[in-house]
Order: sequence, then C-alpha cells, then structure tokens
Amino acid sequence: MPPTTLNKSNCLVIGAGLLGRTLAWRLASDGHRVSLFEANGADIPNAAAPVAAAMLAPLAESAITELNVVRMGQYSLEKWPQLLQDLPGRVFFQRQGTLILWHPADAGEAERFARLLARNHALLPSLSTPEHLNAQELTHLEPSLAQRFERGLYLPGEGQLDNRELLAALCVALERLQALGCVQLHWHAPIDPVEMFATVQSGDFKAAHFQAGVPTWVIDCRGLGAKTHWPRLRGVRGEVVRLHAPEVTLSRPTRLIHPRYPIYIAPKENGVFVIGATEIESEDRSPSSVRSTLELLSAAYSVHPGFAEGRVLEMNTQLRPTLPDNLPTIEVLETGLMRINGLYRHGFLITPLMVDCALEWIQTEQQSLALQVGLEMRMPA
Ligand SMILES: Cc1cc2nc3c(=O)[nH]c(=O)nc-3n(C[C@H](O)[C@H](O)[C@H](O)COP(=O)(O)OP(=O)(O)OC[C@H]3O[C@@H](n4cnc5c(N)ncnc54)[C@H](O)[C@@H]3O)c2cc1C
Repeated sequence: MPPTTLNKSNCLVIGAGLLGRTLAWRLASDGHRVSLFEANGADIPNAAAPVAAAMLAPLAESAITELNVVRMGQYSLEKWPQLLQDLPGRVFFQRQGTLILWHPADAGEAERFARLLARNHALLPSLSTPEHLNAQELTHLEPSLAQRFERGLYLPGEGQLDNRELLAALCVALERLQALGCVQLHWHAPIDPVEMFATVQSGDFKAAHFQAGVPTWVIDCRGLGAKTHWPRLRGVRGEVVRLHAPEVTLSRPTRLIHPRYPIYIAPKENGVFVIGATEIESEDRSPSSVRSTLELLSAAYSVHPGFAEGRVLEMNTQLRPTLPDNLPTIEVLETGLMRINGLYRHGFLITPLMVDCALEWIQTEQQSLALQVGLEMRMPA
C-alpha cells in the first residue's frame, strides 16, 4: 500500500484542559502549527482534569459504560506509556490492577457486579480476566488489608496516572514547542470557536507562526464551556477528597462497592490518596456537602483505619462534561471546524484514542480507528 499523505494544517485549539492540551501537543509534535487558547491560567481552576482521580480502568468501568468506551480505554491504556515517555519530566503511571472490595452487607451488589464483569469479559475477551480472591489471596496482594475483608475481586493490568503531573508536563512540552516557533499559547483568552471560525474563513485571523497555503482547523475542546453552543451538554457533579495518609499502604486503586455510588481510593505517590467520587446530576459547583464528605471519608476509613490519622489536603468539586447518551463524540461541523466532547468520567481513560481519531481525520480525512473501536464521529451531511 502506498504511504498515506499526511495533510499539514494550522490548528486553533480552544480549551487547554485534558483533551485540548494533549491534542495541541500531539498536533504540534506531528508538524502542524498550533495556537492554544485557554479561558483561564495554566492551572485551569474550572476544568475537570485537575480534580480527577485519573484511573485507567476499562474493565471496572465496563460495569457502568458501553463496550465501545471500554475498547477506547483498552487502546488508550496501551498508548499512555509511549506518550508519557515522550513528555518532559516524569509522570507517575502504574498498572498494578484494580482491587474491588465490599462489606458483608453489600455482598449481593458485589455478586451482581462480578456477574456483569464476567459477562463483559466474555463479550470482549481481550479484557483482563477478573480474579476472585479469598482472604489469604487478598492479604498476599494487599498486605495492609489483612484480616479486614473475606473476599475481593482483582482486575489485573488496569492503570492510573497522576493527572496534575500530566497536565504540568504537557504544559512544559508546549512551552518548549512555543520556543521553537511551532506553538503559541494564549492563557486567559476565552474564545468563541464559531466566531473564531468565521474570522478564519474571512481571512482576518493572522498568526505569525502559521504556514501559508495549508488548511486551518478550529477545534473546540472546551469541555463544559462548550455548553454555549451545545445546550444538551450537561455537567455531572463529582466530589473528591485528597488526603495525606502516610500510614496507609495501598498499591493500587481500590474500589468499594457502595449502595449509592462507586467509591474509590486511588493511591498516588508520597502517601497521597484521592478518595472519590460522588456522581450527582447537578451543575452545582459549590463546595462538597457534609453528607458526601462523611460518606467518602467513612468509606475510606472502613477500608483501612489508618485513614483516621490522615490529613485532609483538599476537598474538591468539579463537573464532568457529559452528553445525553453519556458517550464521547467527535463532530466535524464543516471542513475546518471540529468539536470534541462528552468525555464524562472517562477523560483519562480515553484521551489517547480521542486524540488519535481527531489526528487521523485532520491528517488523512479517514476514520478507520474510530470505526475499529466504535467511536461515533459525526460528519457534515
Ligand atoms: C471528580 C472527578 C473524577 C474523575 N475521575 C476520572 C478518572 O478516574 N478517570 C478518568 O478517565 N476520568 C476521570 N474524570 C473525568 C475527566 O476529568 C474528564 O473527562 C476530562 O477532564 C474532560 O476533559 P476536557 O478537556 O473535555 O474538559 P476539561 O478538562 O474540563 O477542560 C476544558 C477546558 O476548556 C476551557 N474553556 C472553557 N471554555 C473556554 C473558552 N470559551 N475558551 C477557552 N477555553 C475554554 C476550560 O477552562 C478548561 O480548562 C473525573 C472527573 C471528575 C470531575
């Protein structure tokens, strides 16, 4: 087969959250000229990305999402190590699997959960095989939980990364590309992508680093900020607590079956844990409620009493950008105007796949990867 010609473009990426930042970096690394616009500063205080636990758990998530998202997660999980290797600085990443636990009162719910995972594994055999653990096996896997749980479920190979280290490393990578003249970064620059597209079409947009004679793309990666043009987009409130609990040793994200929402404990480095997350159909960004905080912390304490001596570093609330079907999408509204959204609770799980699908379209006008995994890409009629 002859090699596919890769189109080079000038790209205006709007929104420097998880998706926009990753896409801008990948576009520039592939030789496109990029301008990245972010409504806030580089610390993106209104974005979902800095608050997330950044678990990469396709099989665990298969209990609550569609199989195409699971396939996107599988693809991305294999892709993250290479991406992280190409970034400056170290970003914590591990694939020690996910541990699922439950208290005796929730055994019925745990059985239902295990059946669901077994069914999904049968439908998608490339997923890791869930392993049932007895008390002894559990102790072997996670010694600090010895004698606390009779049974557990282990999902090998699942991962997690440090979201804040990733966002910072992407920023450094983009600044280096800016120094080389391939990228321009615009912080505190809220942009309306539709107006920007009109400006580009009229020939009024100028950027010194843009190449003449190549197409220009405006790519809307505004997360929930895109609601101005996408009224069916909604925010799903999530509350998390960040703790420093050096007395607790857990080697992997641990989920506790819970009657109201799946609670997880995601261990980061240096004794830091992210305990999350509520999932509430509300766009209220106000601070965590007492009820949610009590539930998250008492769930963590019920897994390991060492959390009692932990120190609360932060309590955060953020909104997950979500479409009505809870699925992600890439839409090309017309040639040169693309929007990517609906990453919901799976942004870290699926961003490498979303970025590769967007790149494939921009560079070759093909969508073979999207078709392979079942990502719906909407094209102009
Ligand atoms: C509590 C919580 C826990 C989570 N845990 C996980 C997890 O464990 N695993 C996982 O995979 N995912 C998780 N997520 C989901 C993940 O964080 C999101 O899916 C992801 O951040 C969405 O990425 P995004 O780039 O679309 O949006 P965001 O990260 O929200 O970024 C959007 C950016 O666009 C900017 N913007 C908005 N309007 C404009 C404008 N007009 N002009 C310029 N810029 C603009 C915003 O300021 C923001 O920086 C979690 C989310 C939450 C809230």
